[in-house]
Order: sequence, then C-alpha cells, then structure tokens
Amino acid sequence: MRTVHVPLGNRSYDIKIAPGLIDRFGRECARVKLGARCAIITDTNVGKRYAKAVFNSLATAGFSPVLVIVQPGEAAKSLKTVQACYDQLALHRLERRSFIVALGGGVVGDMAGFLAATYLRGIAFVQVPTTLLAQVDSSVGGKVGVNLKAGKNLVGAFYQPKLVLCDLETLKTLPDREFRAGLAEVIKYGIIYDARLFAQIEHDLPKLLRRDPKTLAVNIARCCEIKAEVVGKDETDGGPRAILNFGHTIGHAIENISGYGKFLHGEAISIGQVAAAKLSHAVLGLPEHDVARIENIFRRVGLPVQTGLNSSKRQKLFHAMRLDKKVSGGEIKFVLAEKIGKVVWNQRVPEGQIHQILDS
Ligand code: ADP
Ligand code: ZN
Repeated sequence: MRTVHVPLGNRSYDIKIAPGLIDRFGRECARVKLGARCAIITDTNVGKRYAKAVFNSLATAGFSPVLVIVQPGEAAKSLKTVQACYDQLALHRLERRSFIVALGGGVVGDMAGFLAATYLRGIAFVQVPTTLLAQVDSSVGGKVGVNLKAGKNLVGAFYQPKLVLCDLETLKTLPDREFRAGLAEVIKYGIIYDARLFAQIEHDLPKLLRRDPKTLAVNIARCCEIKAEVVGKDETDGGPRAILNFGHTIGHAIENISGYGKFLHGEAISIGQVAAAKLSHAVLGLPEHDVARIENIFRRVGLPVQTGLNSSKRQKLFHAMRLDKKVSGGEIKFVLAEKIGKVVWNQRVPEGQIHQILDS
C-alpha cells in the first residue's frame, strides 16, 4: 500500500492507495477517530457494484452505516440533491460525531463533501474515489461544492476529509472513456511539476491503458503527492495552486460552450493543454520538441487535441474565457510551461495570440 500524507496542520490527513482497500474499509476508518453512525453517499452505478462491500466492512468493524443513493451524472451536483440528502441524514439521526463516506467519482465526492461541510455546521467525511479523475484530482485538496444554473462549482467550501482511500480495483469497472479522460489530469501533473513523471507516463502508457495495478499505483501516488504538495503551499487558492489550472482556461470554456456533457472534463482539458503548450511555445519559448511530446501523449491516449470551432463558436469561447471565475479584471490569464515539468502562472496573453494558436 502507498500512503501520501497531506500536511495541513490539524487538518492533515492520509491518502491510501492499493487494490482491495474497500474490503478493509471499516478497519481503516477505525484507525481515524470517527463516531459510530455514518452515511454512505453513492450513485446508482457505483452503489450497485461497491456499496454492499463498503457497508459490510463498516458494520463488521463496529460502525453503524446507512446508505443514501443519488442519481449518477453532473445533475446530482446540485442544491436539490444536497437538500434531499440533508433530509436523509436527519431522518437517520446523524449527529455531530457521525461521518459521511463519499463513495464514487468527482460528482459524488464534491456533493457529499459539501453535505459534510454544512450539515450540523460540519461533520467528518471520508473519501472513496472510484474514478481515475477523482483519485488523482478532485478527492485531494478539499474543494467541495455544487453547481448553480449560472455555472459549475459556484457554491462550495474548502473542507478536508479525514481520510482518502483509493481502491485500485474499482478502476477496473470504470468505462473506457472515463478512464482515458482521467489520464488527462495524470499527464497534467507531469507537465506542471515533474519531467520524470511525464517521461514515465510516456514509457508506461500501454500498461496504464491496460490498467495494470502496479503501474497505476506508482503513477496515482505521484499525482497525489504533487497535488498534496501544491495544496500544502496554498490551501485556499490565489497563489501557487494556480498551476493546477494548466490547460483549464481553454478547457473550462470548451466545456461551457459545447454544453456540459459533450466533452468530459478530461477531454476538454486535453484540448486545453495542447493549446496551452502551443501558447507556451509562442510566449515563453517552450521548445517545439516539448510541444510535440505533449500533443503526442494526448493523441496516444486517444483524447481530442483540437476543436474545429467556427467563428461564432470561437466568439463564444472567448466570451466564456472572460467570464471564468478565475479571471480578474476581465483579463484572460494563463498557466504556461517554460519546459516540461516547470510552469509559471498569471501569464497575460493577448487575445490575438490565442486566436493564432486556435487557427493552427
Ligand atoms: P468524475 O469523477 O469524472 O467527476 P463522475 O463522478 O460523474 O465523474 O463519474 C463518471 C461516471 O462513472 C458516473 O456515471 C459514475 O456513476 C460512473 N462511475 C464512477 N466510478 C465508477 C466505477 N468505479 N465503475 C463504474 N462506473 C463508475
Ligand atoms: Zn481538472
């Protein structure tokens, strides 16, 4: 088993990564100080596969779990779902010392984390991320929240879990498209922070695509380490945490204008990262060879690397980029790479240059 410690003072916690963790879930929870009563929040897809094992493991370890199941998909990341879950928690008499288990992908993790942050002004929660994206990204760092009609993640909190358990076995049942999309975030960590990781991914890609547990463990653990390090320096955003947004300025805008659902998040940021690499070449002199390596790895994963946008869509894209909540003072700022493994944030790029890149 690999363990990554997230150092955040009295909010510190461990991320554990191994196959088969769900079967000893109860014992792992017993090591952390938690009350007996708990609610497992999951969606129907994940629930039908893993809820029973989690439930039994908790019960065997002396906990008293209840199960709350929500619909799968982004629509569940809403205040309406949160409201229905609050009612369930109250009905089952969860109290201050009770805890929540978020069993599922990023949608369940973000929504259940927000539930935990706000029910009774905050109760403990444990994350069991079951998508690659959630294991390397959304379950680490403490951002929880839901969407509004006006946009994604507009209501939320910074709220850290007590424990994160990544069971590599759960990735075996993940749909192929979801798995490949998750690799876009894995590759991102190599580009922004660790040239060795990037080279390792290039080398390991066939094994990663076969979902080989050992290869997954090494790479997922490294991604969690990097995210933990970045978040440890800047828990609540505004500074160095910005580097995690490499490829996301254009990526979020693509998700936004194409209607959520057309592109998965990982697919949109694949396009965004390739565009950011080309911008990095134009603005910071990122070597052409590195741009080619970046584009090539996303192609090998089978992810999209460009959008053929017509001019009206292009206008919408710029409009969406200007509205992004990370934009301040109406200026579009980018995270750009100096070389693979080293990025800088807060880079102003003239809109004309962005147009040129998208034309290329
Ligand atoms: P993300 O983690 O990318 O934000 P979601 O939480 O929306 O994604 O999960 C993506 C889809 O995959 C959902 O339909 C969810 O029910 C399903 N899912 C999540 N984990 C698994 C798994 N381990 N096996 C099968 N399906 C899964
Ligand atoms: Zn992302």
